[in-house]
Amino acid sequence: MSEEKKEKKASELLKEKLLMKKESGAKTLSVEEIAKADEFCKGYVAFLDQAKTEREAVSYSIQAAEKAGFCEYDSSKVYQPGDRVYVNNRGKALMLCVMGKNGVKNGVRLGIAHIDSPRLDLKPNPLYESNDLALFKTHYYGGIKKYQWPTVPLALHGVVVLKDGTVKNVYIGDDEDEPCFVVTDLLPHLAVEQMSKVMTKAFTGEDLNVLIGSRPFRMDEESESVKLNIMNLLYEKYGFTEADFMSADLTMVPAGKARDVGFDRSMIGAYGHDDKVCAYPALMAAFDTTVPEQTVITVLTDREEIGSDGATGMKSTYMADFIADLCESEGEALRHVMAKSTCLSADVNAAFDPNYASAFESNNSSYINNGAVITKYTGSGGKYSTSDATAEFMAKIRALLDEKEVLWQTGELGKVDGGGGGTIAKFVANLNADVVDLGVPVLSMHAPFEIVSKIDVYETYRALYEFYNA
Ligand code: MN
Ligand code: MN
Repeated sequence: MSEEKKEKKASELLKEKLLMKKESGAKTLSVEEIAKADEFCKGYVAFLDQAKTEREAVSYSIQAAEKAGFCEYDSSKVYQPGDRVYVNNRGKALMLCVMGKNGVKNGVRLGIAHIDSPRLDLKPNPLYESNDLALFKTHYYGGIKKYQWPTVPLALHGVVVLKDGTVKNVYIGDDEDEPCFVVTDLLPHLAVEQMSKVMTKAFTGEDLNVLIGSRPFRMDEESESVKLNIMNLLYEKYGFTEADFMSADLTMVPAGKARDVGFDRSMIGAYGHDDKVCAYPALMAAFDTTVPEQTVITVLTDREEIGSDGATGMKSTYMADFIADLCESEGEALRHVMAKSTCLSADVNAAFDPNYASAFESNNSSYINNGAVITKYTGSGGKYSTSDATAEFMAKIRALLDEKEVLWQTGELGKVDGGGGGTIAKFVANLNADVVDLGVPVLSMHAPFEIVSKIDVYETYRALYEFYNA
């Protein structure tokens, strides 16, 4: 062996010892592991298709949880290790708890994902007629790029509650034999002025009106007869009148089902990956946890996309109140339990997109197929509005994931001054618990059709499961 080759070998050894390996995630997985990921995602796709709104996600999850042995929580009962309970908050947020061998005294393990997604909510007085067309006024919910929503087939989901409390469920537009709805756009031929506007001005919130009908009630002289015809159809189908829109949670979501993406079927395209893509793995991790050391609480929360305000969002006291109930039954103080608690805030991050490479810093981006992404902090403009996971907690999590051979990566949300965003992590951190974000990298986040990798979904499940059972 020549002297030169010996030297190279020494540098290789040193590299191995000191530098991070840069091999691609998917290449390091066995065929069997990838097959497991594909199988796991079949369940995820079924969940996605039935859980586009937070209400639907809660209904689906309760049904599945009851099959998995969870019962509704009763604060007057004494629970044993391995007991499984759930708490339903107004049908819009859900907590699932598996009692641990040590109860809550050493802190609880929290996995929290959100089940609301950006969409077009109907206004309280939505129905109107204009130039013989019937439309719904909307108020968008969450951070959307408004230009993405016109000309996309939409479905109407939600509830209308009558004055006597009767709940009418509305769910129309997803099946191919049902009608769908749409926000129209201007033809390019006449869009000279529109096309010269900046993107934030070309479409405004008040432009996002949904076309819902065009035939008049009768060919008579009655004014607003198209509106009357639509209201009549709604009354016949659902039994509510125009005034009942005032007590409704109705929303327009992209119509249709989740689809495999790519010749290799390695990815899933769908509405609402953010954050059902973490909610489903968290739910499955909860189901697969039998008798953990510490009590494990999975929270599927609402209102994250609009800042977590409200009774069913993470700024509400509902989670801390539930933990306080558990503490009381064990004679522990909530503040002592919270201080020892740990949390994975299961939320998505932006996957590096070669089409928009300049928005990312490549050394600190998450990549499709590189596994669950740990995001130490989110926020914007100099780490504002974020908790920043401590080095100590980061060390524990990376040691655990490495020991259990979970495929994972770190990622920041784009370039430092490129914008920003947040998750529920800071609200949990503000309760004096250790928390870090872990979830799935997403392409086209917040678009009507978002993209994730099947491998990343499965590895996020594995990360949550190992965290719950550590
Ligand atoms: Mn999210
Ligand atoms: Mn989001």
